[in-house]
Amino acid sequence: MADLAFDQLLAALAGKPLSFDEAAQLQQWLAGIDQGAQCLALIEEAARGRPCPRCGCARVHRCGQASGLQRFRCLGCGRSYNALTGTPLARLRKREHWLAYLQCVLDSLVVRAAAEKIGVHRTTSFRWRHRFIPAAARQRAPVLGDIVEADETYLLESQKGSRTMTRPPRRHGGLAHRRGINGEHDCLLVARDRSGRTRDFHTGRGPVTAAQLDACLGPVIAPGAVLFSDGAMAYRRFTAQHGIAHAWVNASAGEHARGDIHIQNVNGWHARFKGWLVHFRGVASKYLANYAGWWRVLDERRLSTPTALLVAAAQRR
Ligand SMILES: [Zn+2]
Repeated sequence: MADLAFDQLLAALAGKPLSFDEAAQLQQWLAGIDQGAQCLALIEEAARGRPCPRCGCARVHRCGQASGLQRFRCLGCGRSYNALTGTPLARLRKREHWLAYLQCVLDSLVVRAAAEKIGVHRTTSFRWRHRFIPAAARQRAPVLGDIVEADETYLLESQKGSRTMTRPPRRHGGLAHRRGINGEHDCLLVARDRSGRTRDFHTGRGPVTAAQLDACLGPVIAPGAVLFSDGAMAYRRFTAQHGIAHAWVNASAGEHARGDIHIQNVNGWHARFKGWLVHFRGVASKYLANYAGWWRVLDERRLSTPTALLVAAAQRR
């Protein structure tokens, strides 16, 4: 169906108040759409022309179907594979629910709400979340250019969901034992250029170091770009080592901007991310990178449909 025709159809529907019976009929019709077949077709299409995932050979034979997907046999190594082999989605089941689940991801549903909506077990909902989201979040800008803002935000370390705590539980929920940023805090480093391209890094616990900036930002800052940050010594060391043009605001002295020099875009990202995190009631440190990637996907609005998310996630590692 052409987009225009669908838009017209939707507009016509929106203009007509539906009776309960009509709405029920429509829902029944929608529920009858074969999402499993659509999902498989999208996966096959995304993988079209890919060489063997094991040896890279492009000479293949078709050899039947398995679980609804075309099987190929590689003429180079003799192994067989399908469109999902070598992707993070290989061996995940219940594909008929994937697209509906990805809508739950776009709607930021918590594990339990998504499970109830789709009709899968909570452990499935949890497993899918931590499989689909990092897979889709791999689609990101390879480099940031021109003016790049960078800053960290800190979240209290969390062992939520962990069976074995490595420290006594906090008595008052989310209060650190000591003041300031220390080993009790997870560091999320975010870099964003002025065209909105964003990269996020969970660097570990405690204040970010020049070595971590080197490992995270070194490969993603385009030649000739200028870095804006606060005055932390780690940024000065990192930029000096790489010969990157650097300007900073003296945030600790209350300076927020000096003309064009500021990190308000990246700080805005931090604030939106933390605001969005609230409804998850705390996230485990080991999944912090997944949540940051999830938020980046939502905030960018580039992968804004279940179909786009599915195709992004079904790429090989
Ligand atoms: Zn092969």
